[in-house]
Amino acid sequence: MAKVAAPEPGSLEERAVAAHRAYLMALVAWERTLHRMNCAICSPSDLCENERVQVCVAAEAEKESRRIAFRDLCDELGFVPAGHVIALPAEELSACCDLASSH
Ligand SMILES: [Zn+2]
Repeated sequence: MAKVAAPEPGSLEERAVAAHRAYLMALVAWERTLHRMNCAICSPSDLCENERVQVCVAAEAEKESRRIAFRDLCDELGFVPAGHVIALPAEELSACCDLASSH
């Protein structure tokens, strides 16, 4: 199995890789939040419409700020770091998955 050389600890490249990971995590969290807040089955029932919108907006803002942080690091680096396998968090099965496949 080919081994990809790890970037220097503390280097710009390492920070860019870490920022990429943080961005992907926020992206996954945002998608999950959108689902939860819009799904009749898994959404928390104690939130009003306004609160749901706010939760989605906050998750999207988090994703956007991480995307910008990653992009800025790539700009500074001059390239997009590649070859580092980024493990995404395992897909959590939603409570509604067995009941509906439409979303
Ligand atoms: Zn659902």
